[in-house]
Parts: sequence; structure tokens; C-alpha cells
Amino acid sequence: MSVPYWRARDRYYRILGNKCEQCSQEYFPPAAICKKCGSTKFVDCEMPKTGTLVSYTQQKESIHGFEDQEPMVFGLLRLDNGVRIIAQLVEVPYDSLKEGMKLKAVFRRVRVDGESGQIFYGYKFGASRESKS
Ligand SMILES: [Zn+2]
Repeated sequence: MSVPYWRARDRYYRILGNKCEQCSQEYFPPAAICKKCGSTKFVDCEMPKTGTLVSYTQQKESIHGFEDQEPMVFGLLRLDNGVRIIAQLVEVPYDSLKEGMKLKAVFRRVRVDGESGQIFYGYKFGASRESKS
């Protein structure tokens, strides 16, 4: 069992970034120095689980360890707090993706470790209920 994974597990089930204590700017991944005010004081801050699709692409070449998930689709999203994040997109057919559509974070199997059989989970983005109508 991978100890660092279990120690960091909390960060995989939530999208955990941080927030500048001085100016409240939010970051994901967590920042060490605030780009806005230069402060180095931060508190953990969970990112919203919904966002808007800014751009997306389909990966057709093999990524080692992810052959069973091909073709993979990745999107750049603007979360509801304005933070930009790149994530794998699932559940929405590639042809149905549209820039500006609302997506929400879903927690899915990311990969299985070949040697230990350990399953790793993490966030991906899928269809938001409001966009299904
Ligand atoms: Zn700041």
C-alpha cells in the first residue's frame, strides 16, 4: 500500500486548494506565494465542484497505464470561484461537449496499480444536472 497516497487521500476526494489569508485569492493547485498580494500565509480551501467548460481536447495517443480509458478527453474548466483547472472529462460524449457548458466534479477510478492491485480514485468532470435538460 502506498503510504503517501493514503496520506494525501483527502486531496483526491475533495478538490483541495488553498486561499490567501490576506486577500482571499483562491488557488488550485495550492500556491506557496500569492500572485496577487505576495503573501505566503494560506489556509486550505475546498474548490467548488461545479464549473464551466472553457476548452477541451481528445487524447488519442496512448498514455502508459491508461490504455483502458482511451480515447481520453481533457477539459480546461473555470470553476465557480474563478479558478481554472484541467481535468479528465467523462460521461459526456465528445460530440456533445460545448464550450460554456456546466460540468460537475465526479469521483471515479483513475487507475489500478498493476502490481498491488490498489485502485486510485480522483476527480474527473462530468455532466451537471442543470445541463441535461
Ligand atoms: Zn493574496
